[in-house]
Amino acid sequence: MKHVEIIVPCFNEAEVLELFLSETEKVTGALTDYRFSYIFVDDGSRDGTLALLRKLSQENPRVHYLSFSRNFGKEAAMYAGLSHSTGDLVAVMDADLQHPPALLPQMLKEIEAGHDCAAACRSSREGEKGLRSFFSGLFYRFSNSLSEVKMPQNAVDYRLMTRQMVDAILQLSEVERFSKGIFVWVGFDTVWIPYENVERPLGQSKWRFRSLLKYAVDGITSFTTKPLKLIRNVGLVLFIISLIYILITLVKTLIMGVDVPGYASLLCVQLFLGGTLQLSLGIVGEYIAHIYLEAKDRPIYLLKERDGGLAEYPREKKL
Ligand code: UDP
Ligand code: MG
Repeated sequence: MKHVEIIVPCFNEAEVLELFLSETEKVTGALTDYRFSYIFVDDGSRDGTLALLRKLSQENPRVHYLSFSRNFGKEAAMYAGLSHSTGDLVAVMDADLQHPPALLPQMLKEIEAGHDCAAACRSSREGEKGLRSFFSGLFYRFSNSLSEVKMPQNAVDYRLMTRQMVDAILQLSEVERFSKGIFVWVGFDTVWIPYENVERPLGQSKWRFRSLLKYAVDGITSFTTKPLKLIRNVGLVLFIISLIYILITLVKTLIMGVDVPGYASLLCVQLFLGGTLQLSLGIVGEYIAHIYLEAKDRPIYLLKERDGGLAEYPREKKL
């Protein structure tokens, strides 16, 4: 019997966890050819999430949990769950029931048919705020046009993977993780399963616009160095134009003498070059920040608590 493990990152999800578990168990209970278990990863929640997880794991032998010493973010929570997983198949799923458990049977069927991964994607973005939808579309178009790692726009972090693919993901032990890109980068054969967007039944979304912006910048800088090449090319073009303009100015001054007016052109050139320089410096800085964080090589997460049912030594490479 194959063991299927479901990893659930949780940040302040006490309200919805019991509902999540009962809804998911309804689906998994009917799939008698598989053995299911859960790894809930408490990402430094400040509500009763951890206490609830302790209780759930006592009541239900299939429930396991990890708890972080503070909030490390969903990416770290997914990584911790994957690195503690031992199942033949591993699923990643949100706690808020926005990732319908009803898709699991179809995902299992696809994997049995020989695929390495079955991933959910939204068939529509209905119910999402217009602004978020707009910026998200902009990000995917921009990022995909720059990077070799093409990310499907409506992909969500809800997928079922084989052990082989999970182990491949764990080999990418970068500190600044961008899972959507990592899932694509490792390759393997993925089938997409579309589903209708579902509203969260309880609790609130944890994303803020600022963190979305950071997410977008990280997404681009994690998978491509094209912005660096772009500013090099812009620099080259500006340099050539400057040389030509210097030559014209010199010749004009030598032939027609000094001509004092030129305030407007001077100001324009100064502002334009200043702006371009600042922007380029900012882009270079973004990459330096990545190098800095990776060079420090800090752990991706710190555990405060782990239930006894989970392996003591995670499978990840670095620990
Ligand atoms: N989450 C997490 N750490 C965080 C933020 C979110 O583990 O710092 C979890 C959260 O508990 C949920 C999932 O990530 O299970 C998706 O979060 P949310 O529903 O807030 O995001 P949205 O669905 O709005 O993208
Ligand atoms: Mg959600």
